[in-house]
Amino acid sequence: MSLSDLVMEDGYTCPRCRGNLSYKETNGIVVIKCDNCGWKKEVKKKMPYKFEVFQDRKDEFRFRMVAPNGQIIATSEGYTQKQSCLDTIDSIQKYAGGAQIVEVEK
Ligand SMILES: [Zn+2]
Repeated sequence: MSLSDLVMEDGYTCPRCRGNLSYKETNGIVVIKCDNCGWKKEVKKKMPYKFEVFQDRKDEFRFRMVAPNGQIIATSEGYTQKQSCLDTIDSIQKYAGGAQIVEVEK
């Protein structure tokens, strides 16, 4: 990971003193800190993966998770309400990282 992978609005030097920045990532949150003056900022790590929301042939809302190489990793069921679709994406973003993998018998 390099600084250019992060969501940065202020360029790559300290906005206060133009000093060098160092960064530390914890659970997708990156703390950027100036080595010189102690200026600090927390940003969300920019992930190259995305959720695409679309309407299918039955006009239901679905999402798919797409990798940087264009591969579709997961596709959802259809939702009649767009908000339900967005809520599910929200749940995945919040909880998927810690979810257990459970094998279910046939
Ligand atoms: Zn500084």
